[in-house]
Amino acid sequence: MIEVRGLTKRYGDVLAVDDLSFDVVPGTVTGFLGPNGAGKSTTMRMVLGLDRPTAGTALVGGRRFAELTEPLREVGALLDPGAVHPGRTGRDHLRVAARTNGIPARRVDEVLGQVGLERAARRRIRAYSLGMRQRLGIAAALLGDPRVLLFDEPVNGLDLDGVRWIRGLLRGLADEGRTVLVSSHLLGEVQAIADRLVVIGRGRLVADVTTDELLRGP
Ligand code: ADP
Ligand code: ADP
Repeated sequence: MIEVRGLTKRYGDVLAVDDLSFDVVPGTVTGFLGPNGAGKSTTMRMVLGLDRPTAGTALVGGRRFAELTEPLREVGALLDPGAVHPGRTGRDHLRVAARTNGIPARRVDEVLGQVGLERAARRRIRAYSLGMRQRLGIAAALLGDPRVLLFDEPVNGLDLDGVRWIRGLLRGLADEGRTVLVSSHLLGEVQAIADRLVVIGRGRLVADVTTDELLRGP
């Protein structure tokens, strides 16, 4: 699971995350909802050890990211389309990621199948649409078969079929007992996907409720 306790991040005068506490439990999809600039990405980056908290802690399976012995096998993430070599094929991109992280090469074909990129994986990434890049990023997140998954705005760039596909994928991952956190700035995008909603505004917790509680009342 993910445990966030008093998590705070200050960038100069900007309080990006402000004393935030919440849990994300296994077997559920938790939506992380808030307007642009609310602090969702910063929170996820701290969970992933990519940013150092000003105060508080973010734990994955009871440990700080830096303490995880096999980080990619415990937590996977899709952040904003990050570093890819456009001249590489999708398969090579994943092969390199697997090799670098001691993940067996057979996982590359497994995750390509999981995201529906088997055929496209032979092409260079520069020819990929935004939706295909999202799928490749998701494949990379799944490579280590992690118990905990973070998706930052995964629906961006996807068409309606892609959105339905993401929904099914996240549900399947949660049904396998994984811990899934998915961010969005649009309620409509996460309400159909998420069991719980953690809502933030200006870095602070606004609501931590089941989707039913929020949408249908008590
Ligand atoms: P969200 O993901 O909800 O859109 P972010 O976590 O990206 O929000 O940003 C939260 C706030 O922190 C914003 O005001 C943003 O401008 C600021 N911020 C994020 N990263 C940095 C950084 N590296 N340096 C300075 N300010 C940052
Ligand atoms: P570095 O190796 O760059 O110094 P570390 O990840 O080892 O970075 O952490 C440096 C500092 O940041 C430590 O004091 C640690 O306690 C704190 N820190 C890092 N990640 C977290 C986290 N997820 N929660 C709380 N504190 C953290």
